[in-house]
Amino acid sequence: MSDSVDNSNKRPGKEAFSISQALGGPPRLGHEENPYVNALAQFDKAVGNLKLKRGIAEMLRYPKRELSVVFPVEMDTGEIHVFRGYRVHHSTAKGPTKGGIRYAPDVTLDEVRALAMLMTWKCALMNLPYGGAKGGVLVDPKKLSRRELERLTRRYATEISILIGPDRDIPAPDMGTDAQVMAWIMDTYSMHSGYSVPAVVTGKPVEIGGSLGRTAATGRGVVYTIEEALRLKGVDPKETTVAVQGFGNVGTVAAQCCAESGMTIVAVSDSSGGVYRGDGLDLLALNRHKAEAGTVVGFRGADQVTNEELLTLSTDVLVTAATGNQITSRIADQVRAKIIAEGANGPTTPDADEILVNRGVFIIPDILCNAGGVTVSYLEWVQDLQSFMWPLDQINRHLRNLIVDAFHSVMGCCDVHGVSNRVAAQMLAIQRISDAIAIRGIYP
Ligand code: NAD
Repeated sequence: MSDSVDNSNKRPGKEAFSISQALGGPPRLGHEENPYVNALAQFDKAVGNLKLKRGIAEMLRYPKRELSVVFPVEMDTGEIHVFRGYRVHHSTAKGPTKGGIRYAPDVTLDEVRALAMLMTWKCALMNLPYGGAKGGVLVDPKKLSRRELERLTRRYATEISILIGPDRDIPAPDMGTDAQVMAWIMDTYSMHSGYSVPAVVTGKPVEIGGSLGRTAATGRGVVYTIEEALRLKGVDPKETTVAVQGFGNVGTVAAQCCAESGMTIVAVSDSSGGVYRGDGLDLLALNRHKAEAGTVVGFRGADQVTNEELLTLSTDVLVTAATGNQITSRIADQVRAKIIAEGANGPTTPDADEILVNRGVFIIPDILCNAGGVTVSYLEWVQDLQSFMWPLDQINRHLRNLIVDAFHSVMGCCDVHGVSNRVAAQMLAIQRISDAIAIRGIYP
């Protein structure tokens, strides 16, 4: 059994050596599969436009600490299954760490490292007082019973309890986890503390301290950024067609809010495939079909499309709300959307990004586009710490103001430095973290 906390600050030279060794040396373009290599490639590009102290830039390339856990869970049959999980903190320069927990059979430590790093940039870009973190368990939650899922969650929460806490590290849902999983983590942590600690997680049910508007926040934020992009380009939402890859939490809400804003949703997909209708899909009927069939595939009155066909449809906007590495250099040339809104984390590889930017595609980068989730998580945490509830219209107003402000800061940075939206967003974020480190000083 391996259960190790790896604090890179204690052995910077050795840690730097071992991480880059494990990755096979410095990041190379064309190495499209590894999310951490991709995150480092994006980081290096942004840092190339900044004047950071070399040591600070070097420090930010690596997570501050990584916990790897292996733990047993008793299944309903009485058998004992062993699972592996991770929790990674990327930076604590601006406050406690914040980031989701992903349950998926193929989660890797590099994926968790990359997502923790993206969380640092996302929180800094939104001016939230957090650093980035991420967690993951190698498990297919759909293959567990509800009791098994609860036992696995409570044991994982106990294993990572040496890192989490309302002032230290605040998890949230990600792919494969939801409000119920957060409730079990909150309850487990509270049982160990001897009193209720709602602020230890966000994305909880409203009944135990969750915030109104949290579930819809990411999709809603995606649409606020699309509306700003259309305004910038002088395009009427009513003249705008949209395709949505990934009809889960983020994609469903994004599609609904785009439609409410006057846009026409012509295509959506999930992991089983997609559907297309040129004059617009009836979202109410589609949601009913998805609830019954478990997939959008087979929706009557629409043509079937593959996931790849959906990505290359001729629409004004493509929302990527599924998972990472979806737009690669293999298909980037065929993507015909004018605006790509990255609802998912890391959906575009660095090679593909370069191709799309050279072709003039307007990309709303993940750390801006999907920041609505962590923004309302922050509002939830603030409400929990104050034991106070805000009304939904106040939450949505705060969310819109923060995300629209961040959008225009990114556009301003693009204008000043002549860089792409993604590079500008990362530059702003990295500069803010670097400033925080410089102001705090290097301990001791
Ligand atoms: P989810 O599990 O609810 O939905 C994901 C959807 O994508 C599902 O419908 C799934 O079938 C579909 N999908 C998976 N692979 C696909 C493929 N290859 N092609 C088409 N569809 C595919 O997850 P979610 O919470 O909606 O998260 C989606 C993405 O958004 C993830 O990358 C996540 O990290 C990111 N994100 C989520 C939040 C949040 O608050 N939920 C916040 C920020 C970022």
